[in-house]
Amino acid sequence: MKLEIKDLVVQVEGKDILKGVSLTIEKGQVHVLMGPNGSGKSTLANTLMGHPAYEVVSGSLLLDGEDITDLDPDKRARLGLFLSFQYPKEIEGVTLANFLRTAYNSLHEDNPKSMVEFHKYLKEQMALLHIDSAFSRRYLNKGFSGGEKKRAEILQMKVLDPKYMVLDETDSGLDVDALRVVSEGINTMRGPEKGLLLITHYQRILDYVTPDVISILKDGEIVKTGDASLARKIEEQGFDKVISGE
Ligand code: ADP
Ligand code: MG
Repeated sequence: MKLEIKDLVVQVEGKDILKGVSLTIEKGQVHVLMGPNGSGKSTLANTLMGHPAYEVVSGSLLLDGEDITDLDPDKRARLGLFLSFQYPKEIEGVTLANFLRTAYNSLHEDNPKSMVEFHKYLKEQMALLHIDSAFSRRYLNKGFSGGEKKRAEILQMKVLDPKYMVLDETDSGLDVDALRVVSEGINTMRGPEKGLLLITHYQRILDYVTPDVISILKDGEIVKTGDASLARKIEEQGFDKVISGE
């Protein structure tokens, strides 16, 4: 079982951003995607989720063998795909708990949870992530610190329990404590039935989340793939040196 990206060419506003990207996220694995700013990492994440601004010119996306290239974002989510955004939105007047229940029930239309059932479930998930239960009564992302936004995202991921997760720079701008919470949350999602694509600019989060595979994207192309040791090399030598050869 896997999420496959095959020869993907993507345009944004008529410009080629991804120039034939192939990448496989196997269940049971954490696949890390690194690369310099502007290399197309967020473009890949947005394309995976079916964002309308990103036009797939050629290539395909397969989720456990099913072609999802032309599916709407909500259908992808129903098949078990989850994307955390680099810049989450604020929504006033909607509590995190209500937002999460709506999201959960829209993915489980055949078996929705009542208010009482959902709150019990939510409390359990929050306890697993060591998040205080008062947090879920706050308005979504309103006045959240950077760390709290990321925590809310990790909670959303935990509650929705997707098969494949794409986390776009979930680690950026976090202090060490928030980074630890987020990393622990990610680690609780690991398992034989889960595949994770962790997009990051920095090696830092990899001190807490051990990757199985690392790929490097540059100018819309995968230029290198390796194991966890590749991240250390990047930290020591920088992207350019690692990409241009040992
Ligand atoms: P990364 O996440 O690796 O920093 P991005 O995927 O955000 O890279 O950006 C790759 C390139 O695509 C950049 O040149 C960026 O300006 C362009 N791009 C991405 N999204 C958009 C968009 N919505 N509109 C216009 N250009 C975009
Ligand atoms: Mg990005």
